[in-house]
Amino acid sequence: MGGGPAGMVTAALLARAGIETLVLEKHGDFRRDFRGDSVHPSTMDLLGELGWLGDFLQRPHQELGRIRAHIGTEEVTLADFSHLSTRARFIALMPQRDFLTFLLDHARVFPTFSIRMNTKVVEPIEHEGRVAGVRAETDGGSINVIADLVIAADGRRSVLREASGFHPRSVGSPIDVLWFRLPRREGDPTESLGWVQQGHLMVMLDRGAYWQIAFVIPKGGFDALKAAGIDAFRRDIVNTAPFFGDRVHALRFEDVKLLVVTIDRLKRWWREGLLFLGDAAHAMSPVGGIGINLAIQDAVAAANILSGPLSRGEPVDGLLARVQERRELPTRVTQTVQATIQGLFLRGVLKSGHPARPGTALRLIDRLPTFLQGVPARLLGLGFRPEHLSALLA
Ligand SMILES: Cc1cc2nc3c(=O)[nH]c(=O)nc-3n(C[C@H](O)[C@H](O)[C@H](O)COP(=O)(O)OP(=O)(O)OC[C@H]3O[C@@H](n4cnc5c(N)ncnc54)[C@H](O)[C@@H]3O)c2cc1C
Repeated sequence: MGGGPAGMVTAALLARAGIETLVLEKHGDFRRDFRGDSVHPSTMDLLGELGWLGDFLQRPHQELGRIRAHIGTEEVTLADFSHLSTRARFIALMPQRDFLTFLLDHARVFPTFSIRMNTKVVEPIEHEGRVAGVRAETDGGSINVIADLVIAADGRRSVLREASGFHPRSVGSPIDVLWFRLPRREGDPTESLGWVQQGHLMVMLDRGAYWQIAFVIPKGGFDALKAAGIDAFRRDIVNTAPFFGDRVHALRFEDVKLLVVTIDRLKRWWREGLLFLGDAAHAMSPVGGIGINLAIQDAVAAANILSGPLSRGEPVDGLLARVQERRELPTRVTQTVQATIQGLFLRGVLKSGHPARPGTALRLIDRLPTFLQGVPARLLGLGFRPEHLSALLA
């Protein structure tokens, strides 16, 4: 359940292995503008293993070979992907709706794949102590879907998590994000993804005709920001990235979406008949733009472990813990790094009353000798324990 990155990739891989797979997605389309856009080298390696990378790169996207930040008056390089030994030495920025459409185009080639949009799962169906399917609401009424295995990939507000009595442990997050667009103009600086000035930080994603902007605020700070008025907010934006001064006047609070940032994870990712993957098992912060990629790594691990037994019609309940064992450590490590960056760096920037300057750590990264520059890029681009398709799936 859930036609996000985790659900679509798991379903595509299982269908490719000949297993009857049905995705239930509550929305009628993939228009999810409020979610990340970044497809990392680890995901493009997977697309290469599947033979889909050529088509992916044909579709409109931007390529980020380096991640640079404009901090105060200085520009620093945080990661340079040109040293990676991967198929794609860059991060591809593609709106998530386009990425999900791309995945659907490839998945629906398999006769064993099907998807039902506008179908909202509301509760599990239980039989003899295990999850045997789900009940879902559709435009035409309620339906029951019976399955050998239910994969809950329904994101960080997973209904099956609630309904099964699974409560995630929060790692905490001191930030929220405001999400809005500003027009992109000829001559705009394109080198820096992050812009940091006294007390403010924003990330700008190049979407061709416009900038998709993530403006970081202290957790729960949106009401105070609105109370200060739109002119004060426009000033904050221009103070952070001065070149927006010629177009920020048109921005209204109605155009600004609040995205509540959460980092949490389940203690146990499964029960008999049911497996949680992606944000449903572990909600990710936007830091590093890693959530889509981690969700997809979960999908690959699950398909590697489960596809053989599922295709032979064997029970898989005894294997679900192995999926968690495989993916829990990379999740913990990634969340710890995200929480540390949020706590040490982002919170510090938001509280600071001083002009922003790159700290010692960022200056060191910027000045790493060439042979070491691949280290931060590798951690960001490939993550911890990158997954590859098993011989059965390749
Ligand atoms: C502000 C913000 C910015 C981010 N930016 C990035 C980024 O740039 N790069 C990055 O990699 N990650 C980013 N992330 C994280 C990333 O969006 C998630 O980690 C990733 O989308 C998780 O994928 P998923 O498939 O597990 O869940 P989701 O993407 O949340 O997908 C869940 C799917 O399930 C569907 N669904 C939900 N409930 C039901 C139901 N009851 N029945 C049927 N369907 C249901 C939803 O409609 C959705 O399609 C960001 C997160 C936030 C909060």
